[in-house]
Amino acid sequence: MSEQPGMALGEYPTTLPSPQLLRDVAVLRPNDLHHALTLLDEAQRAGQALRPMAGCTDLLVEAHFGKPMPAQVLDLWALRHSLGTLQWTERGLRIGALATYRTALQDPRFCAELPALAKAASLVGATQIQARGTFAGNVENASPAADAAPMLMALDASVELTSLRGVRELPLHSYYLGYRRTVRMPDEIITSLLIPADRLGHPGQWLRKVGTRAYQAITKVGLAGVFSWQDGLLQDVSLVAVSMAATPLRCFAMEGYLRHKSLSDLDPIGLRQAQARDLTPIDDVRSTADYRAEVFARLVEQALRETAAT
Ligand SMILES: Cc1cc2nc3c(=O)[nH]c(=O)nc-3n(C[C@H](O)[C@H](O)[C@H](O)COP(=O)(O)OP(=O)(O)OC[C@H]3O[C@@H](n4cnc5c(N)ncnc54)[C@H](O)[C@@H]3O)c2cc1C
Repeated sequence: MSEQPGMALGEYPTTLPSPQLLRDVAVLRPNDLHHALTLLDEAQRAGQALRPMAGCTDLLVEAHFGKPMPAQVLDLWALRHSLGTLQWTERGLRIGALATYRTALQDPRFCAELPALAKAASLVGATQIQARGTFAGNVENASPAADAAPMLMALDASVELTSLRGVRELPLHSYYLGYRRTVRMPDEIITSLLIPADRLGHPGQWLRKVGTRAYQAITKVGLAGVFSWQDGLLQDVSLVAVSMAATPLRCFAMEGYLRHKSLSDLDPIGLRQAQARDLTPIDDVRSTADYRAEVFARLVEQALRETAAT
């Protein structure tokens, strides 16, 4: 499986797509959420595809690589006044669907309480992309190599979907149906992402991305996790594999194997067997399956050692 056929190894585009490609895309600009949902509902009833867009950075990637452009898009950018903020509530952090990486990185509480997600945000593209790109867009784009979505999944985030039919909330680990496919229905938009309160300020947040270089590279293999150590035992853990499967993937077999173990209890063979139950690594232009399996196992060991020591 190759995520972006024709893309140079491990690279995001550095040139602009031809304006010609985007010329025929009709852009609908709702004023508020109800207007947006009404337009989606009308399009669905008319049998027309209408694609919600936030920062549009992923659409530019698709245009750059010659994917067919949608006939019409729903530009949600004007909804920033209501959906572009971070809200700290008793339940946890609500990240509005139009909140950009820059919005988050400029919030000292976000950087202090969610350091691994802040790291993920700072790894997305460069400053310009971070000013336009949203966490919700990263989730819905459903790339197996995404930077923010896996850390959100490790933090037990859930996705709030809204349509004229109502609101539903789903755990992010059950949001993906397969490669670039999510459970979102055509008349729904993501309105927010919710990180539960017990994850905020958690000392065991951990993220590492292995790519061809430190910045502006697509992940070859990565790990996002949250590790809860108590008295030398790993009481709880969430592990998410990046660029290892068709989607960011929660590794429940490994989590089960690791729970209630100390570092000295760990048997590398048992851990590898649990890894094999969770993951059959992909093999593509960026890396081989063998390389991915080996590096992923080492990332898990590194994360365990480092978080146990904090
Ligand atoms: C030069 C460049 C570098 C990049 N580098 C990285 C990188 O290092 N790491 C990385 O992870 N990504 C990277 N990206 C990809 C992209 O910037 C991120 O995935 C970003 O988070 C997408 O956010 P967006 O708001 O621009 O999404 P958009 O492009 O607006 O949308 C992305 C997808 O989500 C859907 N969508 C958006 N918002 C909603 C919503 N509220 N409800 C329903 N559907 C929605 C759209 O229909 C589309 O399918 C890069 C892109 C470029 C152009």
